[in-house]
Formats: sequence, C-alpha cells, structure tokens
Amino acid sequence: MGKIRLGVMGGTFDPVHFGHLVAANEAASAFGLDKVIFVPTGEPWQKQTITDSGHRFNMTKLAIAGNSHFDISRVDVDRPGPTYTVDTLRDIKAQHPEAELFFITGADSISQIGSWRDSEQIWPLAHLVGVTRPGHSLEVPKSPHGAVSLLEIPALAISSTDIRARVESGKPIDYLLPASVIDYIQKNNLFRIK
Ligand code: NAP
Repeated sequence: MGKIRLGVMGGTFDPVHFGHLVAANEAASAFGLDKVIFVPTGEPWQKQTITDSGHRFNMTKLAIAGNSHFDISRVDVDRPGPTYTVDTLRDIKAQHPEAELFFITGADSISQIGSWRDSEQIWPLAHLVGVTRPGHSLEVPKSPHGAVSLLEIPALAISSTDIRARVESGKPIDYLLPASVIDYIQKNNLFRIK
C-alpha cells in the first residue's frame, strides 16, 4: 500500500463558506487525497480584526460535519503566538508521520510565501496547492520546480469578506455557506457592527 495522501487546508475561515468546501473537494479529487484536514488559523498574522479563533473553529467544524473525507485540527488555534505554516505542517506531520502532505490554501496567500517564516523549510514538508478564483492570474512564487500547483475553483467567487459585509449591511447570505454556519453566525451575533 502507498503512503496516505493528506490535504492540509489552511485558512482563517472567517467564516468558512461553500467556496472553501468545494476547493477542498476539488483538491482531493485532483491530487487523489485520502482526507483533507481543515486547520483554522490561530492568532492573526499581519491582520488586525478577525473573529475569535474559537468561533472560527466551531463554524468550520459545523461546515465539515457529515463528510468522512474531511476532518479538522486544533494545532493552529491551540499553539500560542502567531500561526506560521511551517509549524502547522510540522505538527500535522508529527501526528501523521506516514502521510504525504498537500498544503492547500488561497493562491493569493501562497504567492506571498517568500515572506513567510522559514519558507525554505516548507518545501520538504508538503506539496503546495494554491486555489484561485476564476479570472485571477497568479504568479507562482520562487519555489523549487514542481513544488506548487494552482487549481482554479469557480465556486471561490464566494468570499468571506463579502459574507461579512453582507451580514453587516443586512443582506442575505443564504446558499453561500452551510445553513448550520448561518445559524451559528446569527445565534452568536457575529459580523455585526459593535
Ligand atoms: P487570507 O489573507 O485570509 O486570505 C487570502 C485569500 O485567500 C483570500 O481571498 C481568501 O478568501 C483566500 N483563502 C484563504 N484560505 C483559503 C482556503 N483554505 N481555500 C480557499 N481560499 C482561501 O489568508 P489567511 O487565511 O490568513 O492564510 C491562509 C493560510 O496561509 C493560513 O493557513 C495561514 O496560516 C497561512 N499563512 C502563513 C503565513 C506564514 O507562515 N508566515 C503567512 C500568511 C498566511 P476567503 O477570505 O474567502 O477565505
């Protein structure tokens, strides 16, 4: 039997939406992944105002419920200090030493990888998959040959920023994200102007 192929889906997920779920599913199909682990970020890196990681973790957990190919990990929310992908991948690798890792995230983020902590140590840990919105051309960062793949995901026309703006201005968010997550947002009064 070959190695287990594990997707590691990193993101803020503020909130998680169908674009993320479709992207994880498409990456799983394109790279023959056995499982995709969603890893919501802990403390924001280079970001000011984002929702508490507990809420972002809970929403992501609700969104993946019922899909046996999706899982969720607390490694980033439980690690003190800013979230660095090199730590995410080391932690997941320690828990799954036998697995081949595929780090999946927004291609915009991956294009900045040159500025990430210990980026040269990321390459041996995982293959990188940058998922991109339609019509966005992207530069593949300076990286070892074949270390980064790009995958266009039409459903990523949905964005967390747009969802937050819609909640703030009282517009509907139905059909953009799972109903369980919409309920959670309403019950916890998230994304309203305080
Ligand atoms: P972000 O700035 O919140 O998002 C950048 C863009 O990518 C947005 O358009 C976002 O859309 C999209 N995106 C983010 N995660 C995605 C995902 N999993 N699937 C599809 N699209 C996604 O980026 P971020 O969430 O902070 O960071 C993404 C990942 O990169 C995290 O795991 C983070 O830890 C890592 N990262 C590491 C470093 C470092 O090691 N120094 C620095 C930056 C980022 P939505 O808003 O709709 O999601």
